[in-house]
Amino acid sequence: VSEPVAPNEQEPERGHIIDGNAAAAELGTHLAAEVAALSARQFQPGLATVLVGDEYTARAYERRVRRLADRLSCHYVTEALSSDVEEADVLAIVGKLNADPRVSGILILRPLPRQITEADVFRTLDPGKDIEAVHPVNAGRLALGQPRFVPSTPASCYHLLDHYLEASGRNPGSFYQGRTIVVVGRSNNVGKPAILLGLARGAIVVSCDEHAFRAGRLREFTRQADVLIVAAGVPGLVGADDVRPGVIVIDVGINPVPDRGSGRVRLVGDVDFEAVRRRAEAISPVPGGVGPVTDVWLLHNTVIAAKMAAEQGPGPASYPTSAW
Ligand code: NAD
Repeated sequence: VSEPVAPNEQEPERGHIIDGNAAAAELGTHLAAEVAALSARQFQPGLATVLVGDEYTARAYERRVRRLADRLSCHYVTEALSSDVEEADVLAIVGKLNADPRVSGILILRPLPRQITEADVFRTLDPGKDIEAVHPVNAGRLALGQPRFVPSTPASCYHLLDHYLEASGRNPGSFYQGRTIVVVGRSNNVGKPAILLGLARGAIVVSCDEHAFRAGRLREFTRQADVLIVAAGVPGLVGADDVRPGVIVIDVGINPVPDRGSGRVRLVGDVDFEAVRRRAEAISPVPGGVGPVTDVWLLHNTVIAAKMAAEQGPGPASYPTSAW
């Protein structure tokens, strides 16, 4: 006869896991239909990536999007350059891809080595092929609420959030209004656009970067979050004491760490998943959260760029909340 379990030995209640693989599979199905419709009009979307150096997460990302482009029968080309390449050579490659009619969208993989100024490279992109909205024109359009492309990682964060809210009986069209979204990390490609997308949804948006951390004030703000988006690139940055009960957490971080047992590299997020899950209403895991959706979204943006090129028209004029 088994002993009755004392209340404090019971499995604690844990938050819902937001499943990025399932969301990505669903989006992938829609996308395959869009690609088929385009190819029926003799038009094949094409993605180009520029990979400078051999940073682990950039290489892994390149491999994933290449596989996805192949699976979707999109044209794919990668320009792999050594880490000591000069900026002028990178700009020349971007110019070549801008002029290539088979290329609809271009992704510059980050980080770039120190001798290359990111802003110079981004400014060189053809805005019509700038699927991550890093060119000043596209970044400006996003800030004004008139995006041509919504950058794939922050778009994926809100896609997962909207999807989860809908599935749990709430309206993503009104849920954020008057609620607090805290975004940790303020990079141009993830944190800042995540702030803008939160503002567009009527949320109270708080932005913290490493300065808030150094001032010892990060927790003061993360604890206010109804929705917490963490994109800092610091493993274990957010623990159970940094969140309030019932928070919804999106962990963007992808950090390669050595696995003590096997000696191999494994990926962890910025959030202490198990500890935070005990307090959260819902949380996205790493891997299997934002990452797989980002991959599909990048190809989705490539298809938008291909359609724009096919029609020679302007991009979507309205602000897509969940564009699918
Ligand atoms: P980044 O290095 O360009 O920017 C990091 C930001 O975090 C900066 O604003 C910095 O000030 C802030 N930060 C650093 N340490 C901090 C701390 N201790 N406390 C608070 N803020 C801190 O990085 P990024 O490109 O924005 O990427 C962030 C993370 O997200 C990385 O782990 C990256 O690998 C991952 N990422 C994931 C995806 C995905 O699809 N899941 C896509 C892009 C990036």
